[in-house]
Amino acid sequence: MIYDENNIFAKILRGEIPCNKIYEDDFVFSFHDINPQKKIHALVIPKGKYIDLDEFSLNASPDEMVGLIKGINKVAKKLGISTEIGKGYRALTNISDHGGQEVPHLHFHLFGGENVGRMVE
Ligand code: 5GP
Repeated sequence: MIYDENNIFAKILRGEIPCNKIYEDDFVFSFHDINPQKKIHALVIPKGKYIDLDEFSLNASPDEMVGLIKGINKVAKKLGISTEIGKGYRALTNISDHGGQEVPHLHFHLFGGENVGRMVE
């Protein structure tokens, strides 16, 4: 599969579509989901052009991998839901067809701000 340069998150990264930004550094960009499923529903995406977690794990550099994992924690801290300062959260990524992925740019959902319930409803 080839990365779609016109997927909605690529457009957000390029600043072509507005978003409610939470955090940005050299490796990640984070913003609130447009259709929140929980009290807090943030998205964390790598700045690199990766379709999903499988493709990222095959092709991303070690620095990009560390940057993404650290970025998730930085966003959680900024939102007050990390274990250092809050009550925790769920990090989830959907992968391709059977995973129910809609936007083909790797993203982690961070759900929190309340007890987020069972993993699969
Ligand atoms: P997926 O199903 O691919 O794991 O999740 C895609 C997520 O992107 C959904 O939760 C959806 O609400 C969110 N989303 C889709 N379009 C936009 C948008 O234009 N802006 C923002 N902030 N979120 C979006």
